[in-house]
Amino acid sequence: VRVAQARARVAAVFGPGGDLAAAVSGYVARDSQRDMALAVFDAIVERATLVAEAGTGTGKTFAYLVPALLAGGKVLVSTGTRTLQDQVFGKDIAALKAALGLAVDVALLKGRQNYVCLHRLQRTEAEGRLGSRQEVMQLRSVARFARISATGDRAELPDVPEGSGLWPAVTSTRENCLGTECPQFDPCFVYRARRAAQAADVVVVNHHLFLADLAMRDDSIREFLPAADTVVLDEAHQLPKIASDFFGTGWSIAQVTELAVDARSAGLRHAPDGASWVALTQRIEQSLRELRLRLAESGLTAGSRTALERVPRLERLAERLAAVDTPLAALAQAVEANAGREPELDAIGPRTALLRAQVGAWKAAVDSIEARGDDAGADPDSMDADAGASGDGERDAAAPQGDASVRWIAMSAQGAQFHATPLVPGEAFARARERQPQAWILTSATLTLAGRFDQYLAEVGLPAARTVRWESPFDFRTQGLLYLPESMPSPLAADFPEQVAEIVWPAIHAAGGRAFLLCTTLRAVERCALRLRALMDRDGADLPLLVQGVATRRHLLDTFRRAGNAVLVGSVSFWEGIDVRGDALSLVAIDKLPFAPPDDPVVEARIRRLRAIGRNPFLDYQLPQAVTLLKQGVGRLIRDERDRGVLMILDDRILTKPYGRTVLNSLPPFARSRRLDDVVAFFRRPGDTNA
Ligand code: SF4
Repeated sequence: VRVAQARARVAAVFGPGGDLAAAVSGYVARDSQRDMALAVFDAIVERATLVAEAGTGTGKTFAYLVPALLAGGKVLVSTGTRTLQDQVFGKDIAALKAALGLAVDVALLKGRQNYVCLHRLQRTEAEGRLGSRQEVMQLRSVARFARISATGDRAELPDVPEGSGLWPAVTSTRENCLGTECPQFDPCFVYRARRAAQAADVVVVNHHLFLADLAMRDDSIREFLPAADTVVLDEAHQLPKIASDFFGTGWSIAQVTELAVDARSAGLRHAPDGASWVALTQRIEQSLRELRLRLAESGLTAGSRTALERVPRLERLAERLAAVDTPLAALAQAVEANAGREPELDAIGPRTALLRAQVGAWKAAVDSIEARGDDAGADPDSMDADAGASGDGERDAAAPQGDASVRWIAMSAQGAQFHATPLVPGEAFARARERQPQAWILTSATLTLAGRFDQYLAEVGLPAARTVRWESPFDFRTQGLLYLPESMPSPLAADFPEQVAEIVWPAIHAAGGRAFLLCTTLRAVERCALRLRALMDRDGADLPLLVQGVATRRHLLDTFRRAGNAVLVGSVSFWEGIDVRGDALSLVAIDKLPFAPPDDPVVEARIRRLRAIGRNPFLDYQLPQAVTLLKQGVGRLIRDERDRGVLMILDDRILTKPYGRTVLNSLPPFARSRRLDDVVAFFRRPGDTNA
């Protein structure tokens, strides 16, 4: 009876005369929102797994929060983006608490790297060894902030940029944190946030933290996760990608460098007579420099991602990896010889062991490729750069048969990261789900492909989950127009970006700016922007042109919103986590369907694996991914009942290829046209402020 009463209460909250209508200004009662809330409620009661797609405008946040809060028990909400995490914590839950008169205790929990580490801050201040004057100033800011902040959350300190080299010195990692041995344990921001999370009824985290925990890589929410009765994973379309990162393993040159720095510091302070700490750690740093140099000599450039098999002259990489292990082994011995003198020095031991194991695993992997006599790495230029729909038997033969993961190297300006990424992250995800006996709700506006959940369920390894789907309540037929221009340039044309700019410009002009032009490569972004600038000058159009790369993403978006007539040219990274409501964004144009680059090591390995097991990698993997991204982009265009906009796609494969129909069927039912006149008329219609 109590369950039936609670269910009736959930339904009543969403009614025309319910709590939300009474308390939230402008609230519109919608059947789909109430139905979703009831489906979530049922899943919570039955501790089931529910996968729910709710189109833009359904009001899915309230639809899962209301049943989760009214069902009682502990709730864990995880989001994909920081924007949504802040919105759920700071806005939505607060509004619901007031509307429903609930006294629930809510906590926001982030990964440890978001909080200032008091111990490392103190150590950095005492040692005073910093890279630049700017970092010295930033250190002062952080120290002042740590004294007055209640949370130590670095998001509250915007004057020290996210990318500052200071942050690693004043935040902790799981490896270098001293935990209960730390002299700063009581006031520690990280542990204070965790204690608050444990005591709370509702905890809001993000997928990185949630998955790190599931993958047993962090202990931040481990105490909380098993205790939660309900787990809600919003923006669940991001889970497969993030899961593949988190269920993998990896190490980096930066991590080993940091170990050397910490070991030198701890050794000199706590056991100056115990070993030649400076010499020991300098040998590690030297071996890392030589490893980085070796990779660069092999042709790996900053920003590249290369499968291990494709690195030329692997035997020399094996030598360099062995050369990193030798001084690490010496460090391990020195730490062992000084065991028990000081916890900070003792903590170096397990970190060294962990990194030695990783370096050793990579050396073994290189040796094994060498022993197989693979020469797939000899010619990286021979990679197939097409969308991957065609077969490539030779490359398949070179694939590590039966391998469940791919090893690859990401190069940065100063360092390199060594990753092993699982090819079937769903298996690990499903195992983790089995360990947790609570209800799991996975939701997003973009989970299906042409109305079907199969692909997504396979990706997350939950084929037996309940699924349910609600269409967006928006009237897409009148609010949106899909414009497929009559002439589309060949994606193979040398001047493709310039042609794109030429074709897009009249539509941008008709919209009076207010446009995103999204390109699939950064090079195309530059070239399209250059041509657009020339066209604007030619026609005397005074529209702000914002180009990715010239300022931070946040700054570009703020400027775009404020301007009201700007044109932003960016890569597909601008498709997600962006909320530009109203008239400021009325045209989204994309140059090509956003297929993941098939020469990316992870994408390529997944393609190979699917082919090896007789599946079609294009239909089963690349197409669903591209469609999800496309749907995310469309979701940026129409944000509420009053929004209107044009989606323009310049990739003729949408019309000429058989899969084009799947893409079109996955998009909202916009009116469609191939004529520029219709676009002009759309923007002239009453209701458009640019008319
Ligand atoms: S407990 Fe860990 S995170 Fe907290 S202050 Fe100490 S080292 Fe830093």
